[in-house]
Amino acid sequence: MKKIVFISLLMLISCNENKLNNEKKPIDNFGIVIHGGAGTILKENMSQEMETQYRNALSKAIKVGHEILKNGGTSQQAVEKSINIMEDSPLFNSGKGAVLNSDGYAELDASFMDGKTLNAGAISGATKIKNPISAAIKVMENSPHVMLSSSGADTFAQEEGLEIVNPDYFITERRKKNLERVQKIGANLNDSKFYKSQLYGTVGCVALDKYGNLAAGTSTGGMTNKKWNRIGDAPIIGAGTYANNLTCAVSSTGWGEYFIRTVAAFDIAALMEYKNLKINEAASLVINDKIGRLGGNGGVIAIDNKGNVAMEMNTAGMYRAHMNSEGKLEVKIYKEE
Ligand code: ASP
Repeated sequence: MKKIVFISLLMLISCNENKLNNEKKPIDNFGIVIHGGAGTILKENMSQEMETQYRNALSKAIKVGHEILKNGGTSQQAVEKSINIMEDSPLFNSGKGAVLNSDGYAELDASFMDGKTLNAGAISGATKIKNPISAAIKVMENSPHVMLSSSGADTFAQEEGLEIVNPDYFITERRKKNLERVQKIGANLNDSKFYKSQLYGTVGCVALDKYGNLAAGTSTGGMTNKKWNRIGDAPIIGAGTYANNLTCAVSSTGWGEYFIRTVAAFDIAALMEYKNLKINEAASLVINDKIGRLGGNGGVIAIDNKGNVAMEMNTAGMYRAHMNSEGKLEVKIYKEE
């Protein structure tokens, strides 16, 4: 009898060990996708030099995240570091080089979501945090909240030891000129032509790591000439950012009000979960049928829990890049490419 109990116990232990090992067994289809914004990006308006700068910046950012994943880092680490690089580049509308509000300074929005735990963090309207995505992650990890705003977000980031900068740090000549131009033509904030002609330069990253965990992050300065502490979709979980290991991780860019109203990022995950749509079908349905039909524009990047990706837009272009587990790199700008 004792022998039977002993053998059963051994079998139970080995069964549990197998289960644990299976859970830890690395998957071989990890991957990463980034975007640097969507909009009226036309080849005829782009100099060769500018195009090369964008392609190089996208390659640099995605390679850093890919290296992390390849070496066994988490999707969270990959998303944070890839976004940090784009935040530090003046080319994109996030961190340094963020667009300016109607008072001439940058108000930064960012969010992050962990697909394994469904934990999330976000900041909006911050003015002093050098790397807003890192602050969003700190909100998730070290506060009982999901979103902090304005000076509260700045104070929290400082208390967490993140790098704090003078608001002038974010301002570039290019964005100053952009704001002047928009204010000179007296862009009407209710005019859809104004929004449709915008170049949305938000940055985002979605990743699947070797442990099968998904993560998504988005970071932006929002819209040029924004007023009244306007907040876009980027810091809103479910609109600008969403991740769930059951389905996919998503980051959006575009006319934020439409992404909020369609709960775009969550909708892509929901279409996969409830309707069994493939990732590219779900992304296309949301961007083209739902947002497009309402009159909104923009794009999304998404990766599912098998490493399949979607990079969908209803604009002329979207700065984007993808790397799979084999290290194959695709960098694209225009829609037809
Ligand atoms: N989605 C952002 C916003 O509405 C803008 C962008 O993607 O550049 O704030």
